[in-house]
Amino acid sequence: MKVVIIDGYVDEPACLGVPPYISPYPRYIAGALREHKIPQQDIYYVTIDQLRTSPEPAKNRIMSAGLVIIIAGMTVPGKYLRASPITPGEIESIFSIVSGTKILGGPIRLGFSDEGGKTASVPGIDAGDINLAHADVEAFVYDILQSEEHLHDPENVVHRFRTVDEIARWSVNGAFIIKQHPDHPDLMCELETYRGCGRRKHCSFCTEPFYGSSDYRAVFDVVSEVSALYGAGARHFRIGRQPDLFTYHATDTGGDIPEPDPYIIESLYRGIRNVAPGLRVLHMDNANPATIAAYPEESRAIMKTIIKYHTSGDVAALGMESADPKVVVANDLKAMPEDVFEAIKLINDVGGMRGANGLPELLPGLNFVHGLQGETKNTFGMNYDFMKTVLDADLLVRRINIRQVMSFPGTPMFGKDVLVKKHKKMFLKYKQMVRKDIDLPMLRKLVPNGTILRDVMCEISDHITFGRQLGSYPLLVGIPAKLPVGRFIDVTVTGHGYRSITGIPYPLKINHAPMKLIRELPGAGKKRTAKIINGVPYENEQDFLDKNITGQDLLRYITIP
Ligand code: SF4
Repeated sequence: MKVVIIDGYVDEPACLGVPPYISPYPRYIAGALREHKIPQQDIYYVTIDQLRTSPEPAKNRIMSAGLVIIIAGMTVPGKYLRASPITPGEIESIFSIVSGTKILGGPIRLGFSDEGGKTASVPGIDAGDINLAHADVEAFVYDILQSEEHLHDPENVVHRFRTVDEIARWSVNGAFIIKQHPDHPDLMCELETYRGCGRRKHCSFCTEPFYGSSDYRAVFDVVSEVSALYGAGARHFRIGRQPDLFTYHATDTGGDIPEPDPYIIESLYRGIRNVAPGLRVLHMDNANPATIAAYPEESRAIMKTIIKYHTSGDVAALGMESADPKVVVANDLKAMPEDVFEAIKLINDVGGMRGANGLPELLPGLNFVHGLQGETKNTFGMNYDFMKTVLDADLLVRRINIRQVMSFPGTPMFGKDVLVKKHKKMFLKYKQMVRKDIDLPMLRKLVPNGTILRDVMCEISDHITFGRQLGSYPLLVGIPAKLPVGRFIDVTVTGHGYRSITGIPYPLKINHAPMKLIRELPGAGKKRTAKIINGVPYENEQDFLDKNITGQDLLRYITIP
């Protein structure tokens, strides 16, 4: 039987699967299929963007497949540089040409909404006999293949969560599927260490508790998966599929926050490095600021381990959500503002030094959610003041994410998001202020003009090329030139926007560079640019200095001939 897996992309609080990321979902599904002896060559993976741009080859496979699975669901949708998540209309249209069994799975089971501030609804997609996986899609796929009868009549299959033992096998057996990703080998593999939230109370808006309490994967299993992915060509990894990396295999001490185990994190990172010695990126994602504040010594040890084994430019994204203590209490949020501040300080202390890719080793990210219960006008002021205090204290934050809450059925927030609409205008104004007053000066401190960023991947190219380093929360770089898509280049930072930077190729080939790149050289200015252009071609550095007496400072950014 032929199977088609269509990746409509996912974006969850603790899982990203939008290119250049590939989430664990398609990999686990492919592994579950392999366990049923379906040959690799009969498992076809395609992304929704591939289907849009060249539908024909995939369309035939979809029509003739015995099983078609669509993965979808954005529970925290963002803005994406070159990918667009699947829409309900596309799901309907794809399934309408399928004659085999149709499965829809992933976080879409929790509801569908295309942007923050909107209530998510359970998809009412109308394409006949679609089977929505109400628990884990990989387990559903595995179970319906247990018998012909189930395959043709999945109605009777019980929806369930997969076990960690199952994904130990499926993750390894399904690693081959990444070779079919259009970005392979330059894609980021999102890795899961555990899911579910170990707290006794849960934040009002969060969907992670739907996964139950934390189901930690064994270090050996995660490392084996990395080994299989590495064998399939992967070189970029993010340990992103867990709500708090610091509490991986943490000890339950009876309180709200389990006690971190630095030894486990050391085994995990060491193991990954051993099986993937030539990896190019190893990053993390979420960390609970309350864990870091409650266990500073253990957390410091963990950060040191991360920095020892990871690659630079790493981000520990802290879910602060609100700096208003009343909102924290009303929504059972995890940390008070003073806890978050301590966490930011500690991460800066351990991870603030600049690393090999041009960015600091490890910095905090900050997530804010608006429209929560108890929010008032003052909440906006408190959030703004908190960020300003961080900035004024010379602490760095890699990125600040501000969104309005999306309320999902089954969460305490569902049906209580009236403040989203009421505060919309205020929210937009405040967001703009944060971009201007906080993000911009923060970015200037983070990557001052003249900083060299290594390995920026060119992703979109027209008269301006947009690229990013592969990693957690990469900076968007605009290069005023048309460069080949897919190429990796080093870049000199030459300017700053609110959320992005301008850069030029490093080192700049001065004898061949167009004026629009030369004038971007840090400190070049109009007059010097004209002089430099007049002096082209240069024979060597001395020739450059003879023709540009004040050009010494530019030599570090250029190459001659
Ligand atoms: S601490 Fe809050 S935001 Fe984090 S996983 Fe638990 S419930 Fe979700």
